Amino acid sequence: MAPSSRRSWEIVIGLEVHAQVLSQSKLFSSAPTTFGASPNTQVSFIDAAFPGMLPVLNSACVDQAIKTGLGLHAKINLSSIFERKNYFYPDLPAGYQISQYQHPIVGEGWLEIEPNPGEAKRIGIERLHLEQDAGKSLHDLSPQATYVDLNRAGVALMEIVTKPDMRSSSEAIAFLKKLRMLLRYLGTCDGNMEEGSLRADVNISVHQPGTPLGTRAEIKNVNSMRFIAQAIDFEMHRQIDLLESGVCVVQETRLFDASTGETRSMRDKENAQDYRYFPDPDLLPLCLDKEHIETLRRNLPELPDLKRQRLMETFGLSAYDADLIVSEPEYAAYYEAALKVLCASCGENVSTSQQAKILANWFLGDFFAHLNHTDVSFETTPITPTRLAGLIYLILTEIISGKIAKDVFSFMETEEGTAEEIVARHGLQQMTDTKAIESIVHDVLTREADHVAAYKAGKDKLFGYFVGQIMKATQGKANPQTVNVLLKKLLG
Ligand code: ADP
Ligand code: MG
Repeated sequence: MAPSSRRSWEIVIGLEVHAQVLSQSKLFSSAPTTFGASPNTQVSFIDAAFPGMLPVLNSACVDQAIKTGLGLHAKINLSSIFERKNYFYPDLPAGYQISQYQHPIVGEGWLEIEPNPGEAKRIGIERLHLEQDAGKSLHDLSPQATYVDLNRAGVALMEIVTKPDMRSSSEAIAFLKKLRMLLRYLGTCDGNMEEGSLRADVNISVHQPGTPLGTRAEIKNVNSMRFIAQAIDFEMHRQIDLLESGVCVVQETRLFDASTGETRSMRDKENAQDYRYFPDPDLLPLCLDKEHIETLRRNLPELPDLKRQRLMETFGLSAYDADLIVSEPEYAAYYEAALKVLCASCGENVSTSQQAKILANWFLGDFFAHLNHTDVSFETTPITPTRLAGLIYLILTEIISGKIAKDVFSFMETEEGTAEEIVARHGLQQMTDTKAIESIVHDVLTREADHVAAYKAGKDKLFGYFVGQIMKATQGKANPQTVNVLLKKLLG
């Protein structure tokens, strides 16, 4: 096929994301939701669908859905309805899933992505609704039988449905990353894809721009960013190949096979599939109080877009640094805690943007390297925000050089005490006594008489060599600026 004909196809993607609500207990029962518990230890009679059990709506889950809706700039519906979605599956003991269908709790909204630096694009949100998760069928415990674990049955999910607004796998990934970050800042979902807390159904079609949208295939339950990108790219080529050879794309549900990177048909899609939705007679319509929504809105944390903007505008951080710092809530929390301590100790002696920049360099450089080469985490690292701020304070006040600070940082990984205490303990203070430095400069130049002669004859490059020798003689503790000034004076 000529590559030019491929270029005229446009790929269209819409996502249905299932995000597990962060909550202590399930959507309609008080059974706990802890991940990794032994099978069937977190199951109430309601989750196991014993006859006559009545669901009781967990208001904490409702608040999580509202907060998520607010974070998505979406309309919160004051009245919504839980319906039964009927189907048979061994890990669905009730024979139906309680979900929302025609009247979801959250309506239209949007989320902005930046597929390329400086290029913002809004992805429309169609709706967000609350529903129960199903249990899990375990097919690999025995060759004879399938076992069912109901721990997950009844756990609250938010299904977030986008408009078909994405145009490439990289836009879809940018959206998912952004959504994950938002959920984590809101504290409404932990975003852990390996544990299945966030998974996506991917709808894909191709068409010629300017013509109606093509027929879509839906790829179910892909649970890693990399697989989602692979599935989209495979599916796009499959559909283009079909259309270019005159065959129609059929609407169907497909599965992604991670071992081959391909998608394959699972079942015909379900335009016709009849779930016989009807309002759950055990549950009243969910009616929300406007005042309550406003209270939740007022108490939302600062969200990543605003935080990023504030870090750039107030502290002059680059977009690159700000993006990295904001990318995980605990990164931002650490950085901001350290910055607060640093600003308090520096007062007005150093500009805040200088403090913010040097802290960003140390945080994104040495501190991340420290996390990588040790097995500590943000929770367990001995380099607390206060200690890192203390170290940087010593650099900014020229008590130590940036080079010596690296040694102090290593000591901090294993030794107790503030950076200041460690500097004192190891005698690492910068020499600021000009007289003392001058005498060392003098000694070095006397010793290096030949090189001095060469320098004076025009070998300018030797200046750096002299600086090096003096730093060596002072074990790196001489103030570099002072050394420069004195060297120029004594050589000149
Ligand atoms: P269903 O509930 O049957 O899965 P929806 O109409 O709710 O169908 O749409 C589900 C998802 O499919 C949405 O994310 C939507 O953006 C996406 N979608 C709809 N039409 C198309 C299309 N032609 N191409 C790609 N995605 C589509
Ligand atoms: Mg669907």
